[in-house]
Amino acid sequence: MEIKNKEEKIDIKSLTLEDMRAWFIDIKEKSFHANQVHRWLYVQKVKSFDEMTNLSKSLREKLIKYAYISQIDVDFIASSKDGTVKIRYKLNDGELIESVLIPDGKRLTICISSQVGCAVGCEFCFTAKMGIRRNLTTSEIVNQVLIASEMDNVEITNIVYMGMGEPLNNFDNVVKSAKIFLSDRGLNFSKRKVVISTSGILNNILKLREEVPVRLALSLNSSTNKQRDRLIPINKKWNIESLIDVLKKFPLEPKESITLEYVIIKNINDTLEDAKNVLNIVKKIGIKNIKVNVIPFNEHDGINFSRPNEKNIEKFHTYLFEKGVDVLYRKSRGDDIGAACGQLVVPELVVKL
Ligand code: SAH
Ligand code: SF4
Repeated sequence: MEIKNKEEKIDIKSLTLEDMRAWFIDIKEKSFHANQVHRWLYVQKVKSFDEMTNLSKSLREKLIKYAYISQIDVDFIASSKDGTVKIRYKLNDGELIESVLIPDGKRLTICISSQVGCAVGCEFCFTAKMGIRRNLTTSEIVNQVLIASEMDNVEITNIVYMGMGEPLNNFDNVVKSAKIFLSDRGLNFSKRKVVISTSGILNNILKLREEVPVRLALSLNSSTNKQRDRLIPINKKWNIESLIDVLKKFPLEPKESITLEYVIIKNINDTLEDAKNVLNIVKKIGIKNIKVNVIPFNEHDGINFSRPNEKNIEKFHTYLFEKGVDVLYRKSRGDDIGAACGQLVVPELVVKL
């Protein structure tokens, strides 16, 4: 097979180690070269096959003929007073996505995007206003981490899929990217340090666990179906009861837990009654298996919601804490640069409603 133009070449960063081994066999080479190429791409972080000096010249020439090493461009970087850094990337077709670096003590978490925009349409989320433009490819997901990790003084310790998009609506590419993050020949992240957050695409949650052992976060954000139907439209298809059923079946490793995210919004879901309902939901799944993360709503121009006052958030948090729930309330970060959760949006692309 003669491969000439880029469209026919393989995007080598889209291959997991396993896929790359199979691909080497396809092109009539030994599968162990996948280990070498993986190291060059993810440990040495080279940008061309010519730099892969432990491969023979003829193999390098073959790779150049059959494959390419994809990149995405940094379009814009903004730093917040609190140390949070937002990176806007320009993809090869001109689409824009965002990643956020969040320092916290010894940890440096990168929050990455999985889609351009999002189809789920949550009422409170700024990304939703863009609608869905397209899925990211595996390499576009991986490159967000690779390129950020090349910036000065950056050593990323954690990866969360909490940027733009619904990861479980881009299942295959998200799974492949997570496998590349965990690969011990490559980026070598511990499975405890990679978290995929979903709004509740229930048919893919158990499948995710079968494919890759990363941690799961689920955006509950409501204490009743009535609220959730309004805030997260897919609740009409997969409601809180069905969500509880699936989470009960989610096989956990020792000491592992599932995080329930609860974006708390003034006069929408911030009462003690709501906290009681959340407690019941947590108990039904299994109180020992759940961590609740209370996230104050980040205000933005997309919707007329506001953040509850501090006293109300504290009350909500304290109620759950006193009932024995492992609950965390962390003040949000990157607010001043639009880098907090739900503020990731490309302004030019907001659809005026
Ligand atoms: N689509 C996935 C992951 C991306 S959203 C999901 O919904 O889980 C990441 C998190 O940001 C979710 O928990 C979501 O509920 C939260 N979020 C969205 N908009 C927000 C806002 N305006 N303020 C605070 N959190 C928000
Ligand atoms: Fe999509 Fe998550 Fe935003 Fe909902 S909260 S619209 S699922 S990105």
